[in-house]
Amino acid sequence: MVGTLGTPVKYLKGVGPQRAALLLERGITTLADLLAYLPFRYEDRLCFTPIAEMIPGQFHTVLAEVGSSGGNTVRFRRGRTPIFHLTVKDKSGSLHVRFFHGGYLEGRLKEGQPLVLYGKAEVDPYRPGRLEMVNPQMELLSSGDRPADSTEVGRIVPVYEAMGPISSRMLRRIVHSALANFEPNVPDPLPAELRERFRFPTRREALMYAHFPPKDERLESLNSFRSPAQVRLIFEEFFYYQLALALRRQQGHRQAGIAMLVREDGIRQALKRILPFKPTAAQKRVLAEIAADLERSDPMHRLLEGDVGSGKTIVALEAATIVIENGYQVALMAPTEILAAQHYLSARRVLQGGGYQVDLLTSGQKRSEREAILARLEGGETQILVGTHALIEEAVKFERLGLVIVDEQHRFGVLQRKRLIEKGRSPHLLVMTATPIPRTLALTLYGDLDLSVIDEMPPGRMPVATRWTPDSQLAGVWEFVRREIARGRQAFVLYPVIEESKQEVKAATAEYHRLAKEAFPHMRVGLLHGRLKTEEKDQVMDLFRRGEIHILVATTVIEVGLDVPNATVMVIEHADRFGLAQLHQLRGRIGRGSQKSYCILVAPTGVGGEARERIETMVATSNGFEIAERDLKQRGPGEFFGTRQHGDAAFSFAQPLRDHELLELARREALALAANPGRADEVVRRLEAASPAWQKRYQLASVG
Ligand code: ADP
Ligand code: MG
Repeated sequence: MVGTLGTPVKYLKGVGPQRAALLLERGITTLADLLAYLPFRYEDRLCFTPIAEMIPGQFHTVLAEVGSSGGNTVRFRRGRTPIFHLTVKDKSGSLHVRFFHGGYLEGRLKEGQPLVLYGKAEVDPYRPGRLEMVNPQMELLSSGDRPADSTEVGRIVPVYEAMGPISSRMLRRIVHSALANFEPNVPDPLPAELRERFRFPTRREALMYAHFPPKDERLESLNSFRSPAQVRLIFEEFFYYQLALALRRQQGHRQAGIAMLVREDGIRQALKRILPFKPTAAQKRVLAEIAADLERSDPMHRLLEGDVGSGKTIVALEAATIVIENGYQVALMAPTEILAAQHYLSARRVLQGGGYQVDLLTSGQKRSEREAILARLEGGETQILVGTHALIEEAVKFERLGLVIVDEQHRFGVLQRKRLIEKGRSPHLLVMTATPIPRTLALTLYGDLDLSVIDEMPPGRMPVATRWTPDSQLAGVWEFVRREIARGRQAFVLYPVIEESKQEVKAATAEYHRLAKEAFPHMRVGLLHGRLKTEEKDQVMDLFRRGEIHILVATTVIEVGLDVPNATVMVIEHADRFGLAQLHQLRGRIGRGSQKSYCILVAPTGVGGEARERIETMVATSNGFEIAERDLKQRGPGEFFGTRQHGDAAFSFAQPLRDHELLELARREALALAANPGRADEVVRRLEAASPAWQKRYQLASVG
């Protein structure tokens, strides 16, 4: 059967119902989806090396046959690990091979059977002067097999990330046989002029070569994702995406927003009145950028970036003041109830002096309360509505929505943002994030947002002293906490989970009881986690804010937004289980006042790998930009921005961080094309015909 890009994977050779289900879990339903799953690495298994010519320490592909069966046995060494020993030979010599956990190989190999091995040649510790391979890739050939047909050897071999039980090798076979019957006429929407200018292969060739590269492809360019096939696929994705942004932007300009008056005396007075402190230079600059946007009639699309604690909230509230003074309403959306409540309180504190009506909407509210809030909103009485994603529900109707503010923006999907925006007629949009993003990344991931950065902390902040303490010294930690509390301060103690589970992780609830009884019998200890009812959460936070709770035992629900300047200690148990960005956010809860603050990361001294790196980074720096960069390197941008969770990641092939120069190139080309509406329309039409999912995939990402 000839496969087209639309062929469901379940019809592909090598994919049964079980594998189809596993693929589906990863969003792979068609051949196109499968081909979008590119190898992450390539191996050169092109040339066979005679056994006698192998060089120790290097990787080789060997074409050989099974040697005398006497050597092919399982032996148990090193405790109970079964090791399968095999001898293979070619015309030049023989080679000893060991397979750990190789029991399954017993009885499967016949003397003289041809096979191919790919692995590293190493000096045989038991037979000095001779070489061996340990756990090489092995492919058994039938006597009639020509290595040329193999997916494993005699070629540059793609290596895929395994999908659970579907190994790299299985994927190789599935993709290989699908490509063997690939339709000859894959539609290619990329303008021919571009394809020629950049000497790109066709779409069909690009897809085939990115999986099974031609023999003369250079391994280095493949492994740096710069072979012509890969470059074309990456460029193409960026290109369509940037084209969608550019076209949308053109439409946006046609769609008038609301021009606000800023330089009027009443507004200046109002702004002065609300500021409880002297703004930093960065806050002033950023507000000026926002104000200039608000004055224009095309809607603002601005991303406000600033490290945790840099004072974004006050800037947002200033922007809100301008809009309210112009007679419009403001929506402020936050990702958690706790953060929403926090913003609500700040907004009330700051704005109520001006006599503004501030309301809070969350999903946990009583029906009668909710109805009253919605009525006030629709009647235009409410001037700023703060809330969680409850704000995007159908029933929520504004009278004159003029500004949408979205906090901790990376936690929301673009769809959620879009729904909120659509509750007004082209309202201005301000999104805020504590996640520092390189400019090019901001451009790709958030579309056509302009960028403002608060790169300065409010004065008088002392950096948080951070240290790594092993579990064995917990008693000393609690002693330290007691001393700080005796000096009138407050503390957080963080756990990664709520309830005790089978894993050996301390859970907040159990530890709360234990700490209250044993470590802090004379102090007030509170418990906060996501499964408490809204009123309970509010009550606990309120008590903590007022200083009536000394120690707050919590899970990561406090990650964003809880603002208690008197809290100076944060103990994070199982610190090795938290992500870097998460640790940084958590630490941002302290060091908000003028007192010296301490963050104690509790984790075993033996912690290794990435967890160790994360903790060491936290100890070494409190600079959010530096931390974000390291986190990007460790986890990749998809994870970092949460785009994967939201299922609207725009890219399959491209990685904005790795491919930023292609992104810039694609952006230039897309802008040039968009400037010529006739040609741009034609490309879009071809694209829609070739890939019906295009609209969904790229348009959404551009909502901002
Ligand atoms: P974030 O950027 O993390 O949202 P916030 O807006 O919550 O930061 O501000 C953190 C703390 O700093 C708050 O307690 C806020 O009142 C205070 N703050 C903000 N700007 C200033 C300033 N210019 N001078 C002094 N304190 C400030
Ligand atoms: Mg904030």
